[in-house]
This record gives sequence, structure tokens and C-alpha cells, in this order.
Amino acid sequence: SDLGPEQQGLIISHFGRQVDVEVLEGEQRGEIQRCHMRTHLGQLVTGDRVIWRRSPDSGVVVAALDRHSELLRPNNQGELKPVAANIDYIVIVIAVEPYAHANLIDRYLVAAEASGIEPVLLLNKADLLNDDNRERLQPLLSQYQELGYRTLTASTSSSHGLDELKAMLAGHISVFVGQSGVGKSSLINSLLPGADLKTGALSEQSRKGRHTTTTARLFHFPDGGDLIDSPGIREFALWHMTEEQVLHGFRELAELQGHCRFRDCRHDQEPGCAFLSALEDGSISEQRFASFQQILNSMQDSR
Ligand code: GDP
Ligand code: ZN
Repeated sequence: SDLGPEQQGLIISHFGRQVDVEVLEGEQRGEIQRCHMRTHLGQLVTGDRVIWRRSPDSGVVVAALDRHSELLRPNNQGELKPVAANIDYIVIVIAVEPYAHANLIDRYLVAAEASGIEPVLLLNKADLLNDDNRERLQPLLSQYQELGYRTLTASTSSSHGLDELKAMLAGHISVFVGQSGVGKSSLINSLLPGADLKTGALSEQSRKGRHTTTTARLFHFPDGGDLIDSPGIREFALWHMTEEQVLHGFRELAELQGHCRFRDCRHDQEPGCAFLSALEDGSISEQRFASFQQILNSMQDSR
């Protein structure tokens, strides 16, 4: 046939039945090749590793390698579909301003735990810390550290903490999530100097007839590691979850499962409730338990 030899590639963006593959071997290493996909491969996404072959006019992906993780998101029919693959860290960005609600942090953590990807809590805008807000934010971060989560403090304005962040990102694939205004774009722009994200999106749009505005894209950090980013990925925590996933997402509460006297315990007023006695002896925090119940209630409301 007139196909070139099999070689490894990395999907850096996908457009329906076509993908942009970064060449990982040979003289063209680092170049981007638009490829078609063999139909039996299913949905390949940004971050997937593939085997591909050069064809006279472009390329064809002939096999997909196994994923070690995937970020799922419901489509319009409510089916969970992968939007990105092989992610190592979900960096949950919070900030000194806007106010970092613990309940929102817990929602992001639950969503991260549901996907099996390690969450990292990053407090941005450290330049705005003062005696007042530090009194609230330091115990907040300590609480998550004690639960076993990695936490970082950074400032895009003063560059504080950026070296530590870069060192963590090196050698891994990350996504940045968090509410609007916490500084995700600012952080990404300072970590990816020269790679103007807006310009990138525009040039994709100008390729006629392809729905590209929400597709996830992979970027290389200059000091190592990769970022997968899209507007949809940044909204990560708002996706649907089951009750079981919510419990699993609260590490310290998940450990108590099965220890209540009644199997159908709602952890409300029941005698012999392991959750209520853990609350009483202080081994779980009131805020985390309230957060857990609030998330479960909000799921019932939206049904
Ligand atoms: P995004 O919505 O999460 O992408 O947030 P942006 O990156 O658009 O930032 C929101 C606002 O916060 C902008 O006005 C930024 O200039 C500002 N901002 C971002 N990082 C910092 C920081 O480290 N310190 C301060 N003081 N402001 C910041
Ligand atoms: Zn109970």
C-alpha cells in the first residue's frame, strides 16, 4: 500500500472524525499532522496516544493505545463521553478573591475523585492575602492538606509560587478548573508564554466547516508537562454525578460507609449512625459533612 510505516503519535486536538496528531518519532518529531481515523477506533480524544501511518495526502490513525485516565462529560443525550485522556492532575484553582466557598471546592474534589484523577488545590492571587483573609484561608488549605490533598499557593501578579507549580506540572498532563475570575487564563498565559490561547482558538475556527470552538487542545509547557484546555473542561465540576460518587468523593466520609447500624441510614437522626458519632467526636468536620449533604440535596432538587 502507499501508507508509511506505523509510528506513535499524540492527539493534540480532535474535530469530529479527524484529529491533529503530534509526531513523536523520527525527523518530523514535534510536527502536527492532520489525520483521518479508521472507523473501528471509536471516539479518540485529546491526550490519546495512537499508532498512525502517513498517507500521500495526510495520515491515518490505525490504532489507539490504552488510556490511564479519562475526563468524562455528559453529551446532549446525557451519556457520559470522554473529552480528554491520560490526565494526571486536575488543578482546582481557587483565589483569595472571588471568595472561595468550601462547598464549591468539595464539588470539584468529588468530580475529580469520580474520574480517578489526582486533584491539586491551587490558591491563586496570594498577593491579595492580608491578616483578615489569611485567618480564613490558611485553615481552609490545612483542612484539605490533612485529608491528603496537595495544595499550592501562587500569584500570577507577583510570580510567587510559579516555580513550584511548574515543577509539579513537569512530566504530567494537567487540566485547570475553577470558577470564573479566579485567574485560570492569567495562570495559563504566564505558564505558556507566547502561546496565545485566544489566537489558537481563532485559527481553528477559521478552518471552515469544522466545529472547533469547544474542542479540547493539548499544549506543552516550556519547562515540561502538558496542559489540556477548553472552555468545557474549565466547567468540570458542574457535571452530573451519582450519590455513590458523591460519597466516594469525600474521602473521610467514604471510610465510614457501612459502619452505621442501619443499612439505609440517611445520617440524619438515626441511632448508631457512624457519621453522627464521628461529627460528635470531631473526627470529621462539620463543614465537610454539611457540604456532603448540600451536594446530595442539590442533586435531588435537580431531578
Ligand atoms: P479566569 O476567569 O479564571 O480565567 O480568570 P482571569 O485569568 O480572567 O482573571 C480574573 C481577574 O483576576 C483578572 O482581572 C486578572 O487580572 C486577575 N488576576 C489573575 N491572577 C491574579 C493574581 O495573581 N493576583 C491578582 N491580584 N489578580 C489576578
Ligand atoms: Zn448514618
